[in-house]
Amino acid sequence: MNSYFFKSALLPSGWQDNVRVEVTQGNYSHIEVGANSQPQDQIMSVVIPQMPNIHSHVFQRAMAGLSEYRANVNDDFWSWRDLMYRLASEMEEASLYETAKRCYQEMKQAGYSSVCEFHYLHRNKNNHNDYLTHSKVILKAAAEVGLNITLLPVLYAFAGVGKQPLLAKQKRFELSVSEYLNLLNQLHASLQSGQKLGICFHSLRAVSAKQIREVLENTPEDWPIHIHIAEQQAEVEALIQHTGLRPVEYLYSQFEVNQRWCLVHATHLNDQEIQMISNSNAVAGICPLTEANLGDGIFPMPAFIQQQGRFGIGSDSHIEINPAAELKMLEYSQRLFLQQRNVCCDAKLPHVGSWLWIQAVAGGSQIAAQPVGGITIGQQAGIITLQADLDQPPESMLDAYVFSDRVSAEALDL
Ligand SMILES: [Zn+2]
Repeated sequence: MNSYFFKSALLPSGWQDNVRVEVTQGNYSHIEVGANSQPQDQIMSVVIPQMPNIHSHVFQRAMAGLSEYRANVNDDFWSWRDLMYRLASEMEEASLYETAKRCYQEMKQAGYSSVCEFHYLHRNKNNHNDYLTHSKVILKAAAEVGLNITLLPVLYAFAGVGKQPLLAKQKRFELSVSEYLNLLNQLHASLQSGQKLGICFHSLRAVSAKQIREVLENTPEDWPIHIHIAEQQAEVEALIQHTGLRPVEYLYSQFEVNQRWCLVHATHLNDQEIQMISNSNAVAGICPLTEANLGDGIFPMPAFIQQQGRFGIGSDSHIEINPAAELKMLEYSQRLFLQQRNVCCDAKLPHVGSWLWIQAVAGGSQIAAQPVGGITIGQQAGIITLQADLDQPPESMLDAYVFSDRVSAEALDL
């Protein structure tokens, strides 16, 4: 058991002073607020919890920053996807392992506590019968750098709404439902400490409601469920044409969506859909830097806050690996769109940095199904210490960390 004394710490309830914690086998076993330090304690000044990363396609790190040139006057998400498919077609076991290991190491250094890996690059380039190796390589990379991982093997069956057959360049992503269930079973038997499995459907474009139902009927009822939901207007329009419903409306009409669900890129929502997500306690998976990079659209934060919706953040395509930068982008996109300041906060917690950090840790830990919910008994003791020559209260330090370059930070596992 080790003990620490934080002069100021961000707890789920907000900032507290003089927080003394004991850590047993990496988890908080005792927390006392307003405490006195003990001689054996390690003293730390301003401390925040590490951040769960709720959405990652780790192989895409290999192309971060390399698609920032115009190849077509109408460059958009779909032309970027063609470049991404080209990268996917070249990835194989060794390059996937190297890319994942480096990327997960960068996540640890940046202060991410865990990663939800939305993994669809299933089939080996040379052996299409093998769809287990890549999942194992990803788990190995995460274990070697000590990053908690919730592996989300993805069911991917169709190229577009209405069961369109897969394109040749999507064939390496393909699994049947029985292969999918077999993959989950095999992986479940080989999980190490800090590793969890979840259920994952690529999108309503790529799987049918019947397939989703079949998977849910044959998997544990407490695993998290992730899906890309409404990233692009074109997929919203395609689903309306096919079903008469928008993606979130359609999902809720077919399934009992609850706190297990993470709706990734819930970018294009109407008011009713915002209410559906909030009422169900599902988590909106927002990936602000990637969504900005790909020109997806702007998440409707003010209405979502008003409905007390839950959200987490993900680094997705890994254009940058930095949780503070993700939160800054989330707030700045609102400011630019609304011509307002200080949007992501509420009357109880008007400091934007603190509000965003607390909310994203809570939503992220819910949907990671990992003990990464912050400075609370039983949760993993991963912290970020903030340092700056600022004579300011801790809430201003965290604002300055998120929005300025005046604060340096160090991620530590206690
Ligand atoms: Zn994604």
